[in-house]
Amino acid sequence: EEDRRRQLLKVLDMAAKLYHHLLLQHEHGEEARRYLLQRGLTMETIREFQLGYAPDSYQFLLPFMRRRGFDETLLVEAGLAAEKETAAGRNRVYDRFRGRVMFPIHDTQGNVVGFGGRILGDGRPKYLNSPETSLFHKGRHLFNLHRARKSMRKEQQALLFEGYMDVIAAWQAGIRSGIASLGTSLTEEQARVIRRNAETAVICYDSDAAGQTAAERGLDVLKDQGCIVKVAQMPAGLDPDDYIRKYGADAFRGDVIAQALPYTAFKLEALKKGINLQDEPQRMKYLTKALDVIADLPLAIERDHYLRRLSEEFHVSLDALKQEQRVIASKKK
Ligand code: ATP
Ligand code: MN
Ligand code: MN
Ligand code: MN
Repeated sequence: EEDRRRQLLKVLDMAAKLYHHLLLQHEHGEEARRYLLQRGLTMETIREFQLGYAPDSYQFLLPFMRRRGFDETLLVEAGLAAEKETAAGRNRVYDRFRGRVMFPIHDTQGNVVGFGGRILGDGRPKYLNSPETSLFHKGRHLFNLHRARKSMRKEQQALLFEGYMDVIAAWQAGIRSGIASLGTSLTEEQARVIRRNAETAVICYDSDAAGQTAAERGLDVLKDQGCIVKVAQMPAGLDPDDYIRKYGADAFRGDVIAQALPYTAFKLEALKKGINLQDEPQRMKYLTKALDVIADLPLAIERDHYLRRLSEEFHVSLDALKQEQRVIASKKK
């Protein structure tokens, strides 16, 4: 058992090294190299993240590993190869990652446990991740955690991104607390890991609708684990990687991270979506929903703060809001 685990780790590490070597040294990797440089990554960053290239072939990694004594079953178990039954009833084993830029994913000890693979240019799926294996669990690991941990602890702040490229672009710009979940929504387990390393989590998802919906979900998952949560806002259509390239790291730090909305402020903003505040009945409906969010806040001082803000924003008396809030709170019991 322990032996198997060691073998799996070994084959994953060798695959990462091979893909990396192909990206840097081989003519196979030239297009991928150009692609990454054109996206603004430096050679230093490519080395730091051990980015790689998987050639566009069904039989590349497999024969390479076979010659080194690793059998097909092990490669399938490692998530590097896939298995398919042919019409003739024979099992065909083939390389899972083909023609993709490879992003190694590590556990907290820094062992490679899986990969994300991005297609060059357009095509589907854009990203392909390793399947669940005995070592790789999408709901448990976080991309870049083993590198970011030190900075997360020091700053007591984690930056949660949507994409690997966002994490890498931030890192290259000197922002070292960035991590990302692995193509799925944030789990309770991942939130617990984040909380163990930092007090505050800033969600920096893409500014599109998908990103905002994911942010609303991630917000509560993190909050439930005891994080102080904030949500960064970016101009429409940009993700952090785009933003950093367009406006630079200082702007990202000062205008995006530092201006991130605290949990409640974000919730109150999100509630406005699809509501016409010029329309009185809709405005009243919004106020009721807002009071409901505020009623859930554990601290009286926090409730007071947001009630005052509502009172100013909508020109209603604080007394009326407090009265309404008591009604809502009593209904919740
Ligand atoms: P890029 O900048 O390379 O175009 P991105 O990092 O902006 O990509 P998004 O399309 O915003 O990527 O997706 C964010 C993340 O979601 C990716 O990093 C990946 O982890 C995951 N993801 C995206 N598309 C897929 C997919 N088809 N299958 C699985 N995971 C995906
Ligand atoms: Mn997106
Ligand atoms: Mn992007
Ligand atoms: Mn994106």
